[in-house]
Amino acid sequence: MEAQRSAAGAMPAQGPGTIRGSLSDRAKAAREVAERHAGEVDAQGRFPREAFDEIRRQGLLGIMVPRALGGEEASVRQIVDVCYALGQGCASTGLIYAMHQVKMACIVRHTRGSAALESILRRIAAEQLLLASSTTEGKGGGNVRSSDAAIVPEGDQVTLERAATVISYGTEADGLVTTARRSVDAPPNDQVLLVLLKSDYTLEWLQGWDTLGMRGTRSEGFKLRARAPAAQMLAEPYERIHSATMVPSAHLMWGAVWTGIAAAAVGRTQAFVRDVMRNSRGQTPPGVAHYTQALSTLQLLRGQLASALERYEQAMSDEKKIASLEFQSTITLLKVQISELATTTVLSALRACGLSGYRNDSEFSIGRHLRDVLSSPIMINNERILANLAAPSLMTPLPTTIGA
Ligand SMILES: Cc1cc2nc3c(=O)[nH]c(=O)nc-3n(C[C@H](O)[C@H](O)[C@H](O)COP(=O)(O)OP(=O)(O)OC[C@H]3O[C@@H](n4cnc5c(N)ncnc54)[C@H](O)[C@@H]3O)c2cc1C
Repeated sequence: MEAQRSAAGAMPAQGPGTIRGSLSDRAKAAREVAERHAGEVDAQGRFPREAFDEIRRQGLLGIMVPRALGGEEASVRQIVDVCYALGQGCASTGLIYAMHQVKMACIVRHTRGSAALESILRRIAAEQLLLASSTTEGKGGGNVRSSDAAIVPEGDQVTLERAATVISYGTEADGLVTTARRSVDAPPNDQVLLVLLKSDYTLEWLQGWDTLGMRGTRSEGFKLRARAPAAQMLAEPYERIHSATMVPSAHLMWGAVWTGIAAAAVGRTQAFVRDVMRNSRGQTPPGVAHYTQALSTLQLLRGQLASALERYEQAMSDEKKIASLEFQSTITLLKVQISELATTTVLSALRACGLSGYRNDSEFSIGRHLRDVLSSPIMINNERILANLAAPSLMTPLPTTIGA
């Protein structure tokens, strides 16, 4: 059924009462639609419209919103599973969903009873609004803890003008969440998070998105001009939101999408090996050891994500634990580890499938998976992360037991 969009560009209210089935069934339904259109989305470099119509139909955009505001209060663990499912179907769909949920986590966990933010959360749940993210600015690349453009107060409003070099699905989103310098006098690392709805800003197109992979994210560049109620600025300093919510959520949710890409590639490899064996009286293809290797690294990926997820769940409500260097370095390194392992896994899958995996016109092609997963080490460059972590970790004693 063709989705009916409201004037605001969102689906009509779902209401928690109308939600059907378990979360995993709803994610599966969305994954199936995403998978059906993944090739076309990639080839045309277009927004995965059909997948997001289904995601909205399944009410999956507002699941993290508290029940009192019309949502389902889904946990990070549940969101991570949805990201994993969607990543298997279509990497761009999975990543867009993950980016939306990272922003949702920041708002939900740091609302501090703000009526303006609660009203936005209500709308997200009722109208299934999709939020984009703007952290990359000018030529600063992925240094999220530094902003150039500053918030300018104007009565009970604020304005912001920002060179937003990369905003995924910027034109398709119903709103966005941006970092900004607190004021014109503030240093670059004194930042706030500002929540904007479509009516609060304009985007002037600066740069397109013709990339190797993740083509459906349409991560174009814009000049962002915003005017919004000051109350839409999160009261908590971004520094704290960054370490308590933004980094852990991003690394877990992006990581689940990249693991999903790896799982999909391994799935194709499994089908390829079976096919060869069926057609050659049980003989395995020459690259079969790479299939087992891919299975092994996929197992590592899932294990690392599961362990980091557990650590985050234990630390979430413990401010001291979450701020500790031990937790921060674990969750920061998770991004590096998952992106490298996911890339290794997809490369093993490609080598297992040989020419059938290398071809773009084969049912066992690994081409799209490889192009998509190659975005993971550079989505905040791993080298930047490793270099930044070197100095603070120098004074940390190394663990003396395996379980520590
Ligand atoms: C699929 C995908 C989706 C993305 N979606 C979003 C999004 O929705 N919103 C968003 O905000 N960002 C988005 N990004 C951008 C991402 O957050 C990082 O900004 C980007 O990956 C660059 O990271 P990096 O600077 O660590 O790496 P690099 O690619 O190594 O650096 C980026 C560029 O900036 C230059 N550079 C870096 N630092 C400086 C400096 N101090 N002075 C001058 N030049 C410098 C580098 O030379 C390089 O050209 C996305 C990236 C990807 C791959």
